[in-house]
Amino acid sequence: MKKITLALNWKLYLNELESIEFVEKINHSKNQFDLIDLEIYPSATAIRSVRNVLNHSSIKIGLQDFSIFEKGAFTGSLSLSSIEIDCCIVGHSERRDFYNENDNLILKKLQISNAKKISTILCVGESLNEKEEGLSKERIKSQLSILKNLDIQIPLTIAYEPIWAIGTGEVPSKEYISDMLSTIKSELNTLYSHQKNSALRLFYGGSVDETNIRNLSDIVLLDGFLIGGASLNAKKFVDIIKKSSI
Ligand code: PEP
Repeated sequence: MKKITLALNWKLYLNELESIEFVEKINHSKNQFDLIDLEIYPSATAIRSVRNVLNHSSIKIGLQDFSIFEKGAFTGSLSLSSIEIDCCIVGHSERRDFYNENDNLILKKLQISNAKKISTILCVGESLNEKEEGLSKERIKSQLSILKNLDIQIPLTIAYEPIWAIGTGEVPSKEYISDMLSTIKSELNTLYSHQKNSALRLFYGGSVDETNIRNLSDIVLLDGFLIGGASLNAKKFVDIIKKSSI
């Protein structure tokens, strides 16, 4: 069985103390972690504390988002240099929706993480309307088209996250996910050499939890999952790890 990656997106849910409490709890189940690769995306304010509690484990810690500005008079912003991290996320649908981030801005962020050689997850996914109008693949292709302006130097992951599945408890069928991942794969094939493509990872995200991860792990093209809601509770999360690595 392939080793999958679980990426935990804590969004703005866990504060610093809650984040510490979470990692202290999962530290007790450390033996389970050999079977998977883990990436945690806490609130930026909790990154240092989470790292200290994990204490040199192989778990990677990243930023959920960052500014395109490196330093300067940008009140309230964070850059990739603000704090030591291993990885980052760009283009999450919540950034696209609530902060009006467009593909242009997302490309700039990708170019920055690429230049800094920081492993990056790029999120793509269609809305419910787009799905109902049969435009899912068009939407994904257009979101991926920014990659033609990126000469990738980093481990890049594409996370397919249909917006209608995020936080809703609605999970697409395995066939639907496989079909969308194949579309992503063939778009990437047109953009990059075979060698670069084989280093890219594909994730799925949207209402993944301990009840469905086992079934979804069968999807051949999948390298991992981006998990929001179900990653907020340590016990639930240890269950997810156990189920994903049976
Ligand atoms: C997400 O926000 O990236 C996500 C996948 O959330 P959830 O697991 O809660 O659907």
